[in-house]
Amino acid sequence: MPKDLLKLVFGHDHYRNGQSEIVDAIIAGKDVLAIMPTGGGKSLCFQLPALKLDGVVLVVSPLIALMRDQVAALKALGVNAGALTSGNTDDETDDVFNALEEGNLKLLYIAPERLANLGTQRMLSKLSISFIAVDEAHCVSQWGHDFRPDYLRIGELRKLLNVPLAAFTATADPETQVEIKDRLFDSNDPEIFLHGFDRPNIHLSFSVKNSPRQQVLSFVEARKGQSGIIYCGSRAKCETIAQALRQAGHAAIHYHAGMDADDRRISERRFQLEDGLIVVATVAFGMGIDKPDIRYVIHADLPKSIESYYQEIGRAGRDGEAAETMTLYGADDIRLRRSQIDEGLAQNDRKQADHGRLNALLGLAESRRCRRRVLLRYFGDEIETCKNCDLCDSPPILFDGTKHVRMALSAILRTEERFGAGHLIDILLGKLTDKVKQNGHDQLPTFGVGKEYSKSEWQGIFRQMMGYDLIRPDIERFGAFRMTHTARPILRDEQKIELRKDTIIKEARKTKVKSLVAEEDETLFSALKSKRRSLAEALNAPAYVVFADAVLIEMSKSRPENLDDFSKLSGVGAVKLERYGKAFLEVINGEFVEQHPSRRRLAGKNTGKVFDQLQAKQLELMHGAYGHDKPLVCSASSLAKFAESKPRDMDAIKRLLGEKKAERFGAAFLKILTD
Ligand code: ADP
Ligand code: ZN
Repeated sequence: MPKDLLKLVFGHDHYRNGQSEIVDAIIAGKDVLAIMPTGGGKSLCFQLPALKLDGVVLVVSPLIALMRDQVAALKALGVNAGALTSGNTDDETDDVFNALEEGNLKLLYIAPERLANLGTQRMLSKLSISFIAVDEAHCVSQWGHDFRPDYLRIGELRKLLNVPLAAFTATADPETQVEIKDRLFDSNDPEIFLHGFDRPNIHLSFSVKNSPRQQVLSFVEARKGQSGIIYCGSRAKCETIAQALRQAGHAAIHYHAGMDADDRRISERRFQLEDGLIVVATVAFGMGIDKPDIRYVIHADLPKSIESYYQEIGRAGRDGEAAETMTLYGADDIRLRRSQIDEGLAQNDRKQADHGRLNALLGLAESRRCRRRVLLRYFGDEIETCKNCDLCDSPPILFDGTKHVRMALSAILRTEERFGAGHLIDILLGKLTDKVKQNGHDQLPTFGVGKEYSKSEWQGIFRQMMGYDLIRPDIERFGAFRMTHTARPILRDEQKIELRKDTIIKEARKTKVKSLVAEEDETLFSALKSKRRSLAEALNAPAYVVFADAVLIEMSKSRPENLDDFSKLSGVGAVKLERYGKAFLEVINGEFVEQHPSRRRLAGKNTGKVFDQLQAKQLELMHGAYGHDKPLVCSASSLAKFAESKPRDMDAIKRLLGEKKAERFGAAFLKILTD
């Protein structure tokens, strides 16, 4: 049963949503296209069948660093895997070829650029390959931003080897699906598995930008030691925020396309390996990240569309543990994003579509209801419950804003759509500035009608009007607002509009420290993390290769006392139990009670318990039932054998323990077995 391997090798108790069906389809030899959200657990879907099927699985994956980490992670599980990439040392390559020759390699990771090589093709065609797994399959799409020309060779290779192919991606738009089918499956229909877009462990929240640097700093401060990504709109801002974070005592680096390739690679690697590092980056920081334990993603500036937003926040919490997001937005962001679209070189209909995608994101930012629902509905998904967004946490305060919006629209129209928010607000507030006097705007009927609100309240109203696309800044007129047709029914008083009050009033800063574990477990948790760090450093691999955050969290909660308890933790399989159990138990309990190797082998199994009972019984009967006989003991290995082979009668027991010991312990031991 593949399910047995799930715990034994990978240490997981259950499949995640959808994994089981994909694993079964691959084992049945079908072509598969699986579309799963990031963090859905794609790797397991081809790694588990690799162990079930004869031969080796060929895994094509776009990034060398990620391949190396996956191989390290598999080796830590006791699975024989190797990679052929340009990053290999000669020894590593030799090892891979030796393992291939001996026929005991289960997974062979290969960089796409290797596929062009005829020698590689010849070598592959001599192997017994069970199937080809293609990670990040959307890289075959010529129109996508991750296009890899070498991916186009995979289809050829599949034909050459004549084996099934399983393609995985998190990109689900129908055009990409069609391209994947054409290019990888030669238009044959693979079995398609499409999984929902929801990432329930990611907390969604938006905040109005008022002092962005401070907002970022206090968010990070409350999550000290966690690793996160902070996306910024400009390179300069990445550098200044990273600097500010370092000054505040956080481990932070910046990352953007202006850095040279080597520096970028070093930063990517540091982020991958170091526990708790923060990267302040432009969106150039994306593809290269496969860190499952990113605990938060902050957008210090508004992303460009709802699609980008979804993809960028999706990098948090791939391990399934709680992760957070915070997106800052303000009127300037909206203006900037609008003008980027308008000034771009795209065709008009494309620009329309881009405005639409931005609108969807703004709708999400100004949302009056559960954000998760709004987000998923955009992607065609409906959800039952959320309870994990800022609006579910505390519902927004709404008010009927129709009157205010009509005042603002009237100010815009009476000044012939020639002005931006600053001047319009002066008019509404009845301020006699020079500009107002010069233009005679103090004569307008709108002059001073909005006095009951403050300047910042009006700014909030204008921002929301932009968010609902009632007005748009016009770059040809230096950002002056134009009214859109969406606003017409409101202007004519045919439609009402609700606005949010809570995003207008400056929010009180609340910095509650957020921790992954309860306060009383905090010390143990950080001790476990430092143990994990030293073990990972010895492997030159990321921390999660040793154990995921989730395992350490559970460890600090349940505090296992011995290997039996330890083996029950989700994420602990047989090999990790053997390799790391002792080290972590020492951290938890201060010392480790050494067990006989025969007993250790039985850890977590029912026979382990039987062993303990046999051992206790033996101690009791060591000097015979009345305590005055010559002492007799059975070796640990014979007790283990006894527990495992479960003899049913005295003859069998005699064969196992010998005549004398059978006489003393036989009946009592049998009773333990039958109980
Ligand atoms: P992606 O789909 O983004 O490639 P990964 O394969 O990297 O996701 O898996 C993300 C995380 O989920 C990994 O840390 C992995 O160990 C964990 N994971 C995968 N399957 C399960 C499962 N059935 N139970 C618990 N954790 C799992
Ligand atoms: Zn919600």
